[in-house]
Amino acid sequence: MTSTDTAKLKRMFDAIAAAIDADKDRLCRLDGVIGDADHGIAMALGFGAVRDALDQIDASTEPTALLNTAAKSFLNAVGASSGPLYATAFMRGAAAVKGKAILEDADVIAMFRAMAQGIQDRGKAELGEKTMVDAWLPAAQAAGVAQQAGKSLSESLDAALAAAESGAEATKDMIATKGRSSRLGERSIGHLDPGAASAVTIIRAMRNSLA
Ligand code: ADP
Ligand code: MG
Repeated sequence: MTSTDTAKLKRMFDAIAAAIDADKDRLCRLDGVIGDADHGIAMALGFGAVRDALDQIDASTEPTALLNTAAKSFLNAVGASSGPLYATAFMRGAAAVKGKAILEDADVIAMFRAMAQGIQDRGKAELGEKTMVDAWLPAAQAAGVAQQAGKSLSESLDAALAAAESGAEATKDMIATKGRSSRLGERSIGHLDPGAASAVTIIRAMRNSLA
């Protein structure tokens, strides 16, 4: 059993920001093939803004307020479609841990699942439409199953990461029907979806910092 407090959530966002920064060029390249080449820039701007905003909050801030601050700064910083998607994820994560100062393992998994659900609700994408949902949804499902089976947080997040990786890989064979890349139709086949790729990077950073 581990416990997650505000300081650890801050470290989680620092870890995501660093991982996205390191991955920025690859994400832009992937988006250059089936989109408008800005995905790495958008995500780096968003998580950079989150990191800066969270640097200003004090240690007594509750996880819900921290996540809502993250949502607001991400939304303000990102003009691309990933802006409202991740802002909704963090807002839903915030609602899932409302009133808790310390998150138990089950709370962290509830937060994680709420984030994925928020992305799906906001973007209205179903599985198989070649979006970040194809990484987030299987990851959330795997984390929930592992948690229910009594696995540790670390094992549950390992399962989430593995599911996100195969979900993202599977987007190569899909035709995009949501977002900018849907204009390509069948020409989108054969290419990894950038939003699914960044989801894997984010989920890996979450696993590394929370587990
Ligand atoms: P934009 O398309 O506005 O340039 P980004 O490049 O930041 O935005 O993000 C593109 C990614 O957003 C896509 O690769 C896809 O994963 C994701 N995306 C686009 N539309 C949706 C949607 N409706 N639901 C979920 N994810 C989506
Ligand atoms: Mg783009």
